[in-house]
Amino acid sequence: MKALVRYDDQAYAWRVEEMDEPVCGPEEVKIKVAYAGICGSDLHMYHGVFIVPGKFVSGHEFSGTIAEIGEQVTGFMVGERVTVEHTYSTCGVCKVCRKGSYQLCKERKSIGFDVNGAFAEYLTVRPEYIHRLPKNVSLKEAGLSEPLACAVHAVELIKPEPFDRVLVIGPGPIGLLTALTFMAHQAKVDIVGTPNDGLRLDKAREMGISVIENPEEDAYSIVAECSGSQGGMNLALKSVERGGQYLQVGIAGKPVSLDFDAPLYKELNIQGTYCHNYASWEKTIDYLSRGLIDVKPLISKVIALEDWKEAIEELDQQKALKILIGFGSAEDEQ
Ligand SMILES: [Zn+2]
Ligand SMILES: [Zn+2]
Repeated sequence: MKALVRYDDQAYAWRVEEMDEPVCGPEEVKIKVAYAGICGSDLHMYHGVFIVPGKFVSGHEFSGTIAEIGEQVTGFMVGERVTVEHTYSTCGVCKVCRKGSYQLCKERKSIGFDVNGAFAEYLTVRPEYIHRLPKNVSLKEAGLSEPLACAVHAVELIKPEPFDRVLVIGPGPIGLLTALTFMAHQAKVDIVGTPNDGLRLDKAREMGISVIENPEEDAYSIVAECSGSQGGMNLALKSVERGGQYLQVGIAGKPVSLDFDAPLYKELNIQGTYCHNYASWEKTIDYLSRGLIDVKPLISKVIALEDWKEAIEELDQQKALKILIGFGSAEDEQ
């Protein structure tokens, strides 16, 4: 099969190679990938911000069809249209696993981070993380179910009310999806970016999200920080109202300097959010199926695997929002 392989333990050592199809273990399901989204963390891997040793295939946002079922797996059929969580496995016995928050398991292994991912024609997954797609959810939009599940999980931790006034900081794909998810809860949402975010803010307007330049101080009952930048975090602490909720969605990836007296003086509730779990995925697919959130405008384009390099360059230069690698799905996509 064709795969985009990181062939050496260093930055930029990616190329399309012919490799053996993965063998479907007795407790696994083999997926034929239809669409795989390129995410910011894939770009980090390409740039060598973090390196997984050995030959490796990235890609953790994908949809596809079931190609083969391990002999110990029941309940699935070849040909079913699915999307899959990027959790590959967890310990299953620690406290967070048993409470259902297995995304927090210290032993969690992730598809595209710890085991080979979806920038390939096939990959193998475990059945407990597969979600079937309803007929009215296309494989293409399901290619965005992972980032949407991140947003859905973030918002469900906050439990917004229709009267909430929400500020989203950072209009990247996760910021836009977080804004759309809050809007699906009837909250009043503003989004703010930097002067470099022109294309992203245009997309926000196109999707009916209110774009503002200078958020009011002490004005928002919920602020979702989706940029992961120090400036964004300090802006969030400023614009959240007294007694409000601060939601950290973006990853800084390094220590930052914050006015951390603000949570004290304002009696803020600080909420972190990490990935997603079964419940957030089922809700995500429900949102898509009921048309409550439309992710299609976020798809800048679909490319062939061979065109991965131009796509990464476009994403690096913020000339595109979400690019999907298409593997020639038989489904007639709009
Ligand atoms: Zn991602
Ligand atoms: Zn565990």
